Amino acid sequence: MGYLETAFNAKWALATSGTFNGPLTISQGRVVYVDQGVLKIDKEKSEITLATITPHLQYTLSLKDAIEYIQKLDAMSRKSTTYADLKDNSTFNVFYPREMKNLLYFNGEIKNEATRTCTNCGVVLPVRLLQMDHQRPKIGGQIEAVVKVMRILQLTLEEPRGPKCRQLHNAFIEAKKHPTNPWILIFTHQNFLTGTIKPTQLREESPPGNLDDRYTLNNRGSVLYAILRHFGMGDLLDICLVNGIANIRPLCSACNGGRSNKDRKYPPV
Ligand SMILES: [Zn+2]
Repeated sequence: MGYLETAFNAKWALATSGTFNGPLTISQGRVVYVDQGVLKIDKEKSEITLATITPHLQYTLSLKDAIEYIQKLDAMSRKSTTYADLKDNSTFNVFYPREMKNLLYFNGEIKNEATRTCTNCGVVLPVRLLQMDHQRPKIGGQIEAVVKVMRILQLTLEEPRGPKCRQLHNAFIEAKKHPTNPWILIFTHQNFLTGTIKPTQLREESPPGNLDDRYTLNNRGSVLYAILRHFGMGDLLDICLVNGIANIRPLCSACNGGRSNKDRKYPPV
């Protein structure tokens, strides 16, 4: 069982049924209080409901569905101490393949070494010279990293557009057609993935779409986020997803060094 599922189950076991004011959601890339919102936990029915007055909406997520989403989040999670291990992860290697190549040294010697490509500029380097970059920065980029993963799971108003997140998004949909915890297969067998991600500078930029909608949770996403925050799991969620596979990529030191720690795609307005 993953970090989030373990924490959630422990909190659910201790939680009382009832209604709770001041639930949180993510809108336009920011964590906001839902105006006059009420989060309701019904343990007897195993349901979580978020109701808001302005705008008026009511959405119920079953405990079963909530746990399924949490398991999917866990499948994409790492911690600050474990994200570097992704370099040996089979799914990471589908996105950013490692290839043996002949490299020339000063003394004319040619050595056959494991190489990988910088995801930004496209230079091919020995694996040991590449750095594991947090696409959204570890500090200040957590909310964007969370929303990015929520987008993969169809929990935002608009779908993902980037080549990695689209691939994971489609893989989760495909995996759903197969029995028993199929999303785990995405991270063990890669049958649902389509392959290598082109370096940013060597591909055509896709149009950004509706940025507000890409950074705003839908009803299902809002209920899930509200219950996780209500259970005091906000920091754990941030850590798990900012270090997770959707937010980690290999970069050469020149490309990584040129990035600011405040490098976000959607600064709050
Ligand atoms: Zn580079």
